[in-house]
Amino acid sequence: MDLKEKVVAAERLSFDEALKLYEMDLFELGALADAKRQAMHGKKTYFNINRHINPTNICADICKFCAYSANRKNPNPYTMSHEEIMKIVDDAYTRDIKEVHIVSAHNPDTGLEWYLDIFKKIKSKYPDLHVKALTAAEVDFLARHYNKSYDAILDLMVEYGVDSMPGGGAEIFDEELRDYICKGKVSSQQWLDIHQKWHERGKKSNVTMLFGHVEKREHRIDHMMRLRELQDKTGGFNCFIPLVYQTENNYLNIKEPITAHEILKTMAISRIVLDNIPNLKAYWVTSTVNLALVAQEFGANDLDGTIERESINSAAGAASANGINLKEFIALIKNTGFTPVERDSLYNELKEW
Ligand code: SF4
Repeated sequence: MDLKEKVVAAERLSFDEALKLYEMDLFELGALADAKRQAMHGKKTYFNINRHINPTNICADICKFCAYSANRKNPNPYTMSHEEIMKIVDDAYTRDIKEVHIVSAHNPDTGLEWYLDIFKKIKSKYPDLHVKALTAAEVDFLARHYNKSYDAILDLMVEYGVDSMPGGGAEIFDEELRDYICKGKVSSQQWLDIHQKWHERGKKSNVTMLFGHVEKREHRIDHMMRLRELQDKTGGFNCFIPLVYQTENNYLNIKEPITAHEILKTMAISRIVLDNIPNLKAYWVTSTVNLALVAQEFGANDLDGTIERESINSAAGAASANGINLKEFIALIKNTGFTPVERDSLYNELKEW
């Protein structure tokens, strides 16, 4: 059986086979990924109406690729008060958002309660609002900084009302590369352990992969393999989100951005290799809206959401600072021949638009 036949027969691919997929013609590969996508989701493209909030950019870590942290190249340090955050939530709630997505830098000066209390405040005022918050990198930082175990932090997250965990902080799992791009931050194994523990609490999470910087194709495949293995154990990942590295305002100094061709191949291969993660997100914030729309034909069945405001990737050059208008978003999906389906944060369908 050759590689293409194996993919069509839904046989699981080895590391070498997965890597070999990159040698295939882009459109042949896209067709294989699209067949998987259509078998799982038809022409539906999921999105949710959400609000991203990034409450502080003061960070104890020093990731080379980061343009967001005030300790890197961002000249505007800030830390929001809970009143400021609640004002944003109050305002966004009037626009029918279903989720707040709260991710911060690793601020050593706020106290643990600052990180946690806000979730309780949001949930007690808006019990129906899904709180997606704290990446595994933040969990690791809070555990180290406040001398607590991962279990203790995860238990506190459940107690304070976090519903699910975002997939940030995974970056690229290869240890040597990780050491180069984000030395000192949560290790690959710790990242996986934290998500495993979260899943063992009956909770769901997402997972990202930062690519298009110094990694090679084999590092991306290695990243996917480690995820596939954990997902076999826990089944707790809802969605895989390949994030395209943004080139501006950081210390990695990558001159040549990754090509659209390579991005689409990576999306398609993700859809094929990660046979046990149901959703593949084309995160328009880092890939551009246009390429995210094209990625629907290369395996992606989710375009994230309206976001409203985004500070982390826009600091590095992404055109995401003000999110995207809902009507425009829906029209774009429809115009590309797909069916926009609003979902909740756990992928229950809410409305076909
Ligand atoms: S990527 Fe996150 S952890 Fe790393 S420096 Fe930036 S804000 Fe800090």
